[in-house]
Amino acid sequence: CGIVGYIGKQNTKEILLDGLKELEYRGYDSAGIALLNQEKIDVYKALGKLNNLREKVDSNTNAYEIGIGHTRWATHGKPTELNAHPHLGEYSYVVHNGIIENYKELKEELIAKGHKFVSQTDTEVIVHLFENYQNELNDTTKAFHNTIERLEGAFSILLISKAAPKKVYFFKHGSPLIVAKGNEENEVLFASSDAPLIGLANDVVYLEDGIGGVASAENGIEFFCDDYSWSTLPSSKQYAQ
Ligand code: GLU
Repeated sequence: CGIVGYIGKQNTKEILLDGLKELEYRGYDSAGIALLNQEKIDVYKALGKLNNLREKVDSNTNAYEIGIGHTRWATHGKPTELNAHPHLGEYSYVVHNGIIENYKELKEELIAKGHKFVSQTDTEVIVHLFENYQNELNDTTKAFHNTIERLEGAFSILLISKAAPKKVYFFKHGSPLIVAKGNEENEVLFASSDAPLIGLANDVVYLEDGIGGVASAENGIEFFCDDYSWSTLPSSKQYAQ
């Protein structure tokens, strides 16, 4: 239902939680965030209101420079904490809006290869597919490309991995996703609609279907192809009118 992501030096937890709050009006049954620090990923999920998630996260005082967050509106699998995003493989996490139509075939294929699934969601295949290719190729960009090629349906995706501890992979097909340059240096933000970005970013790309890329503090936002254009986010003042 809702996606947020952040790369930068501000308080990553707060930016993600505040961003999810801005998406709250769209409705959700559960929420979660994954925070990446060096090669350590911490994940929090909670059923129900965002405050339940905030209470869990509050005890963590560590600093993080990368994070992804999600509010879920269940389509496959009941609204439970286990089915909440982000979904984990062995070393990577994904948040996803939309539906992976061919998830059953993919799940069977991956189970046959030894992957262990813990949720009832369609989403979980994405992260296992990525790790399947990453284990084979040892190249996170190729692994992400191969993953996207196998997915059918509607999906906007953010993926982080211990195999690429400074990067966020993103892709949009069918569900909305925006990528933005933050107001501070080397900052990158993601959101499924522009409300979470107001005040934090001006330069945004409303991604077209079939567009994706990889973002990092070091290299900024790199698109997989040139078919995109930057726009300016309406200021918060314009929104208030
Ligand atoms: N199909 C996914 C699920 O059920 C994502 C739903 C959403 O867009 O929130 O978990």
